[in-house]
Amino acid sequence: MSNRKTVERVIAPPETHWVGDGFRVHNFFPHATDEQRMSPFYLLDYNSRHYFPPSDKPPGVGPHPHRGFETVTFAFKGKVAHHDSRGNAGVIGEGDVQWMTAGSGILHKEYHEADFARQGGDFHMIQLWVNLPAKDKMTEPKYQAIENREFGKFELDGDLGFVEVVAGAFNGVKGPATSFSPVEIYIAHVKAGAKLDFSLAPNYNTGIVNLEGSLRINAHDEVPVDNFVLFANDGSDFTVEALADSKYFILSGKPLHEPIASRGPFVMNTEEEIRQAMRDYGTGKFGHLE
Ligand code: MN
Repeated sequence: MSNRKTVERVIAPPETHWVGDGFRVHNFFPHATDEQRMSPFYLLDYNSRHYFPPSDKPPGVGPHPHRGFETVTFAFKGKVAHHDSRGNAGVIGEGDVQWMTAGSGILHKEYHEADFARQGGDFHMIQLWVNLPAKDKMTEPKYQAIENREFGKFELDGDLGFVEVVAGAFNGVKGPATSFSPVEIYIAHVKAGAKLDFSLAPNYNTGIVNLEGSLRINAHDEVPVDNFVLFANDGSDFTVEALADSKYFILSGKPLHEPIASRGPFVMNTEEEIRQAMRDYGTGKFGHLE
């Protein structure tokens, strides 16, 4: 009996929209799917590789709140600076990840890092929103600033590249990130001809963003650059073949099976919790940030 995880859809990048003036993103979900389809992941904004000219005023997005989930930012090209209402600040360097648990609520702002903005250059990133289980939505905010050298690294035979493991485990190699529900996140950097076998539970919602190059899944579905692969929940095993030197982002997670109520920067379980978040934001309970 086949235990094949088949491709449900290959989704071309939806039309871009701007988040502030610093992030030119394609929203793969929930825009192109329904909002439960990739649970526990709620949103994926993909800034495909885009050139930003030199600027003395770093582009980005000003202070805004979040509650009820985690924002996970992957900088593939370019650097992102952030500040929050609890006095935290930092830079997400090229190849690094910032895993921010907004939990009960935080205000932050996200900009291109000043030196990168001054020089200008290609900017390429993903921001993923990982929903929190109902019992953890009001957890204390926290960060995991994960540098590239801390990722797990699985080397392919024959000098064909490597797979970075950010969360979960691939072929026994573990990732450093901790999460509130089971998730797997890997980034594969491979040469043309590299073929990788993956095995992820059938019920786990699973997708791939093709960051660079050209892919073929299960010797059948061709995936152009900047496309998103949505897998069916039918089996476990799939193969990804690189038709050119390629880089791709794999995410997979156990669905939460809880109701979603969302508005803008808040992802909760009920409308009343959304109204409470708006009241708390309005009365300054998320703190203050210039
Ligand atoms: Mn944000």
